[in-house]
Amino acid sequence: MFIPIAKPNLSGNELKYVTECINTGWISSNGKFVTEFEEKFAHFCNTKYATSTTSGTSALHLALLALDIKEGDEVIVPNMTFATTANVVKYCNAKEVLVEVNKDTFNIDTNKIEEKITSKTKAIIVVHLYGFICDMEKIMSLAKKHNLYVIEDAAESFGSVYDKKKAGSLGHIGCFSFFGNKTLTTGEGGMCTTNDKNIYEKIKIFKNHGMTHGKGYWHDIVGYNYRMTNLQAAVGLAQMEKADEIIRKRDQIANWYKRELKDTNGIKFQQKQENEEPSYWMICILLDKDFKLSVEELANYLKENDVDSRRGFIPLNEMPPYFSKEEFLVSRDLYNRQLILPTYFDLKEEEVIKICNLIKNATK
Ligand SMILES: *Cc1c(COP(=O)(O)O)cnc(C)c1O
Repeated sequence: MFIPIAKPNLSGNELKYVTECINTGWISSNGKFVTEFEEKFAHFCNTKYATSTTSGTSALHLALLALDIKEGDEVIVPNMTFATTANVVKYCNAKEVLVEVNKDTFNIDTNKIEEKITSKTKAIIVVHLYGFICDMEKIMSLAKKHNLYVIEDAAESFGSVYDKKKAGSLGHIGCFSFFGNKTLTTGEGGMCTTNDKNIYEKIKIFKNHGMTHGKGYWHDIVGYNYRMTNLQAAVGLAQMEKADEIIRKRDQIANWYKRELKDTNGIKFQQKQENEEPSYWMICILLDKDFKLSVEELANYLKENDVDSRRGFIPLNEMPPYFSKEEFLVSRDLYNRQLILPTYFDLKEEEVIKICNLIKNATK
């Protein structure tokens, strides 16, 4: 029996709600599930507004559009993230400015942000990697000092809590992804959260072809079609109904991994901050010198034994579109040593024990 790295759980009201869309004909972006999903989502994140999108990528793009990021502007991005965080900056013809990450939290190194701020810097996109929140206290005070916007790429951190606040409510705009392997899924989909009415209204116009509500087919701006369908929202609403259960289960899985691997030489876990309760997207282990195999050798060994795993994100500065001569030694070192292990709702305790026993046996 092969254990995949991720698998959606669609055992709640997903089928019932999707069937309702089909039966009633409300399959496009108008429909009650869109509004209900957005309302529930805003309530969950404790933000005033939430508006759905077609993907995490379109949510991030909309955030930059709403902040009027354009040619000549600079946006700070961590060097270790899924590439879309930097791609959206390029969509706006602005320049992504890469910042090194912290070796323990894997998140943007707050001590290295200020040296990258110039007169052109307009915003910081922080990424809460694998569900672990960035040092938002420091980041928000830096942003205030330099008059910058903060966008949270919360694609991997639905339900994470920092300072008693949810991911997506900590910066000026929060952006979520509901891709099939994310904590909450709609197949493809995304969401923008904010407390700023003006930003919220702008995002809604940009995602709806640039049409202002109540002005017919009048276009003040060039917009996009980034609207979520009622079909996707039907799945999203059903997922929201079991959000707490999903988050609890992932926490339990993380605890099983930590319990089983705690005495294994050469294995460390991502480190959280004191005022933080991560909602685990993917469990990531870090191999050090005491572990006898390389990440690739361990991954191959797991695969031979029917267990999937995944390397971390390749440092952005090493790939052609974002290439930079600057040295990012921490991201490179983390990439060499990170391995992501299966994490999903239906994963059983005995399967986690099996995976951990394989890891322990791999070096024997
Ligand atoms: C998944 C993800 C996104 C968004 O991905 P989409 O496939 O566009 O929904 C953005 N940032 C990070 C860090 C992600 O992991």
